[in-house]
Amino acid sequence: NMGRKFVVGGNWKMNGDKNTIHEIITTLSNGPLDPNVEVVIGIPAIYLAYVQSIVPDNLKVAAQNCWKVEKGAFTGEISPAMIKDVGSEWVILGHSERRTIFKETDELVAEKVAHALATGLKVIACIGETLEEREAGKTEEVVFRQTLPLIAAIGDNWDRVVLAYEPVWAIGTGKTASPAQAQEVHAALRNWLVSNASPAVAEAVRIQYGGSVTAANAKELAACPDIDGFLVGGASLKPEFVDIVNATM
Ligand code: PEP
Repeated sequence: NMGRKFVVGGNWKMNGDKNTIHEIITTLSNGPLDPNVEVVIGIPAIYLAYVQSIVPDNLKVAAQNCWKVEKGAFTGEISPAMIKDVGSEWVILGHSERRTIFKETDELVAEKVAHALATGLKVIACIGETLEEREAGKTEEVVFRQTLPLIAAIGDNWDRVVLAYEPVWAIGTGKTASPAQAQEVHAALRNWLVSNASPAVAEAVRIQYGGSVTAANAKELAACPDIDGFLVGGASLKPEFVDIVNATM
């Protein structure tokens, strides 16, 4: 995969309490995790500082969302400045649950990406089509439409961005995209980036696959040339996350 460092994200979503978090971090600390893989775990905001205080150096911590300005009258929101202040380096933005349940538009996601990057955070930006869109033959159209506003938002900060291709029909459903289906979209997106961003960006940017990744299917997906990592939901709460991180070993 052209020297792109494999990057595996865990998205805990709205799960975990202090006891289970302690267990998960103990499991990941014991690993062992492939030292050649970048590992980022997405934590509910209220536990960011707690997790930050107990994680080993080889695990990076992400928030699962943030708002688009530094501070102010935005009751209930958190800012990239706050994420950074508690020592976390990453934020996941544009997850399909944010887009669907909380009605985040492509433009809002792009504004959040721009502000998070301006603050100095690294971003996992999520995109992906619904089943209806796939069946209508619109997969690439949707993925390109979602990515387009991100290009201006990212500017020359592509070195701090990971894209996560997550077909909505595969998230939390147990229906993983086949390696061929995932590879096809990853390659199309990379090719689209050649002309819409730059050839250098297209070659260097890491594109994660997300959607019902498990220890059982990770190796085959990881072998695809344009799959540079995973974003893992359900399985990131389980010991098998270690095996997913180690899928390229
Ligand atoms: C996700 O939440 O990003 C995800 C891919 O979930 P799951 O692995 O459970 O399908």
